[in-house]
Amino acid sequence: MIYHFGLTGFPLGHSLSPCIHRAALRSTGLAGDYKLFPLQSGSSFEQLLLLMRQGDLHGLNVTIPHKQTVVSLVDLVSHTVRMTGAVNTLYLREDRLVGDNTDVAGFMTDLHEKIGSSIPRRKAIVLGAGGAARAVAIGLLSAGWQVVVSARKPLQAQVMRDQLRPWAREGYLETTGQEETEINSVIGECGLLVNATPAGMAPNLFDDPLPPAVELPEDLALYDLIYNPQETLLMRRFRQESRPAFNGLGMLVEQAALAFELWTGVPVSRADLWKAVDQPC
Ligand code: NAP
Repeated sequence: MIYHFGLTGFPLGHSLSPCIHRAALRSTGLAGDYKLFPLQSGSSFEQLLLLMRQGDLHGLNVTIPHKQTVVSLVDLVSHTVRMTGAVNTLYLREDRLVGDNTDVAGFMTDLHEKIGSSIPRRKAIVLGAGGAARAVAIGLLSAGWQVVVSARKPLQAQVMRDQLRPWAREGYLETTGQEETEINSVIGECGLLVNATPAGMAPNLFDDPLPPAVELPEDLALYDLIYNPQETLLMRRFRQESRPAFNGLGMLVEQAALAFELWTGVPVSRADLWKAVDQPC
């Protein structure tokens, strides 16, 4: 069998997904390809979904701006999609188109690998209230963490809180703004800061989502979902003061590996995928 996989979203020019999935094919010895299907916001998915329903496309990744739109276009969604309201992986099972989300497990697996149980306080402040922030918050809440969502638009954070509330224990999900005083009022209780905004991502290398005068606890760890660049301004700020800081490459690799395994049923070596992102391909 020759597998046909792909990624849709916009823009896709700098995506590492083709590199990772081609490495997964090589590593598992399966024959196939991974193509990009750029589709701008408002474009129709019909053609792509038809390819999937016909069995001509065996797996599709979905990224910005379509992760939410696609939820209503599939026949079945996973529990993770019901919680996050976002799909990043599509496949066909018994003639039914299934929407899944591997970002949640991708983030939690990598977070666990990076920080283990060394975090002093299982309370996290998550910057941003978009699709990635939802995946992060659901992962943390499901693992028993307390979560504070911090967004520059208060209404956006409240909408996210209302959507996630059914999955959160009483008192485990709060919201705040992104002003210095608002963050200072909660950050002292947190053991982890997650940047789920694009602030600091190329080409906006000098953007920092955290106001400069925020008082960071000495042992606060940072997980920045950005992977381009591999060290953001925010990460540098943490490392300069000897705080642990990790980028989003591990999450990217893990969510891709999980999608590949859903599509093929074949386990893939993470080490082989890491080699693919470490070298230009
Ligand atoms: P999204 O749905 O567009 O949400 C972005 C969020 O960040 C929104 O709340 C937005 O608020 C906020 N934001 C944007 N610019 C900001 C700034 N300069 N300062 C403060 N807040 C800002 O995007 P997403 O899908 O959640 O992705 C967010 C980031 O995560 C991106 O960098 C993406 O590459 C990364 N990501 C990484 C992985 C991985 O595997 N490592 C997976 C998914 C996403 P406004 O509405 O106010 O702009």
